[in-house]
Amino acid sequence: MAKKLVTVVVPMYNEEPMVPHFLTKIAEIIKENDGYNFEVVAVNDGSRDNTLALLYDFQKKYKFLRVVNLSRNFGHEAAVAAGLSVAKGDAIIPIDADLQDPPELIKPMLELFEEGYDVVNARRASRKEDTWIKRYTAGKFYKVIDKLSGKVRIPQNVGHYRLISRRVLDEVLKLPESNRVFRVEVPYVGFKTAEVAFVRPKREHGKTHYNMKSMIDLAINAITITSTKPLNFVFKFAMWLGIIFGLSAVTQLVLFILEMTKVLVLPFLNHGVWLLINVSLFLTTVILLALTIISIYLGKTFNETQKRPFYVIESVKENK
Ligand code: UDP
Ligand code: MG
Repeated sequence: MAKKLVTVVVPMYNEEPMVPHFLTKIAEIIKENDGYNFEVVAVNDGSRDNTLALLYDFQKKYKFLRVVNLSRNFGHEAAVAAGLSVAKGDAIIPIDADLQDPPELIKPMLELFEEGYDVVNARRASRKEDTWIKRYTAGKFYKVIDKLSGKVRIPQNVGHYRLISRRVLDEVLKLPESNRVFRVEVPYVGFKTAEVAFVRPKREHGKTHYNMKSMIDLAINAITITSTKPLNFVFKFAMWLGIIFGLSAVTQLVLFILEMTKVLVLPFLNHGVWLLINVSLFLTTVILLALTIISIYLGKTFNETQKRPFYVIESVKENK
C-alpha cells in the first residue's frame, strides 16, 4: 500500500535563527516516522531577514521542503492559511517555527489519526512559560469564545498546532469568510476529535511576534466570525434600563401621591429633577430597544454574508 502523505505547514516571519534548528528537528521526526511520506510547507510571511534565502538553501539538503513566499507580511493566521491552501497531504499539521510546538507530538498524533480521528488537538496543558497576564487573558478568551459559539465546542488552550485529516482541511478551505481564525474554524467543521497534551516550552531563539494589540485583534476576529451573540448585549442593557426606569417612575408616582394627600412631607425631594431623570431613562430605553431591532437584522445580515455552510455531512450510508 502506498504511504500516506503528511503535510507540515510552518509559517515563518523573521525566523532566521530558528530555521536550521527547526528543519534539523523536523528531519529527525520525519526519519522516525518512516511509515509516511512528508512534505514541509514553509511559508515565508514577508520576513525582513534572511529566512527566505535560508529556506531556498535548505531545499537542496531537504527534499521534503516546499517554500511558499508571500508578497509581504500578512500575519500568522494568513500565513498558515496560505500554507494550508497548497498542502497535498492526507493529514496536515500546522506548527510554529520556534519549536514551542514540540514536533515529537507528531508521532502520537499520527497514531490517533490511524485510529480514525480526523482532528487531533495539541493542548497546552501548562503555560508556565507565559506571563500571568497572557495566561489569564488567554484562559478567559477560550472560555468566552466557547460560551459564545453555541453548539460548537471550542477546545481550550489549543492554538494552531493540531493534526487535521484531508477531509477536514477541505471543509475548512470551503469556509467562505476572508477573516480567518483557524482555531475556531476547525471546531466549526466538526468531525471525530482527539487530543494530546503537552507543556509548552520557551522559545529558544528569536522573539515572539505577539503583543497585546495582536492578541486583542485575534480575540475580536475569533469572536466576531464565530458569533453574533455580543449583539444581544444591547437588548440586555435595554431590559435593565427599562426595569430601572419602571421602578424609579413607580416610586416617584407613589411618593408624589403620598405628598399630595399629605400623608408624607418630603421637603428636600425635587420632583422636577427626578422627572427629568425618569424621562431620560425612558428615552434611552426606547433608543436601546430600537438598536436591538437593528442589531437583530444586523446579525441576520452578517450570517447571510458570511455564507458558512449550514451543515457538514461526514458520510452517507446507502442501504442497498
Ligand atoms: N508568524 C508569522 N507571521 C507573523 C507573525 C508570526 O508567520 O506576522 C509565525 C512565526 O514565525 C511563528 C508563528 O507564527 O512560526 C508563531 O509566532 P510566535 O512564536 O511569535 O507566537 P507566540 O508563540 O509568541 O504566540
Ligand atoms: Mg512562539
